[in-house]
Amino acid sequence: MNLIKPSIVYRYGNGLYVNLTNRCPTACVFCIKTKWKMDYRGANLNLENLEPSPTEVARLAALTYAEKSFDELVFCGYGEPAMRFDAVLETARMVKSGGAFPVPAGIKIRLNTNGLANLICERNVAPELKGLVDAVHISLNASEPGRWAELMRPQARYAEKGFESVKDFIREAARVLPETIATIIDCDKQELAAFENLAAGLGAKTRVRAAL
Ligand code: SF4
Repeated sequence: MNLIKPSIVYRYGNGLYVNLTNRCPTACVFCIKTKWKMDYRGANLNLENLEPSPTEVARLAALTYAEKSFDELVFCGYGEPAMRFDAVLETARMVKSGGAFPVPAGIKIRLNTNGLANLICERNVAPELKGLVDAVHISLNASEPGRWAELMRPQARYAEKGFESVKDFIREAARVLPETIATIIDCDKQELAAFENLAAGLGAKTRVRAAL
């Protein structure tokens, strides 16, 4: 048992990160949650099934900002935020509208995701983010479905349609949001070129992440 209190919000860089859930439809080979025992640089991200309400997140964001400001709010955590897509929207709505004062209304909000929100919610959800979330960073990691399945290890329900669904989500997000970035864990040049080509076709920028 980890005796450090679970962190619902935690700072990293200039951002405040929101840990909404530990549930996830994938088991990515590069995921650090097991290796790091649910710790992220001193924050215990094991929620022990106690998922916070949007009101609680807004309250903690306000308290944290009052101590020291931050530049953006990021849904991330150890888990897939889209497993609680409605809570993402509701929290973003509260914060964006000034309901987490002294957090400035309109502060940048980012969603870090594996991009499976459409399959999780069984609808096209990207348009619902418009006006609430400014940026989505999608951990796509592959240029084709076989490699995607190998790296992301999706649960059975997401295996067959997952890759295409993530592509659909990226394409739609790029259409309606100011910033859409597809990310990939560092790989060989050939795969990286194919990945950049795919992302460009979907309308997204790319970012290469180092494996931790
Ligand atoms: S999506 Fe994130 S939390 Fe889920 S397995 Fe992958 S790296 Fe881990």
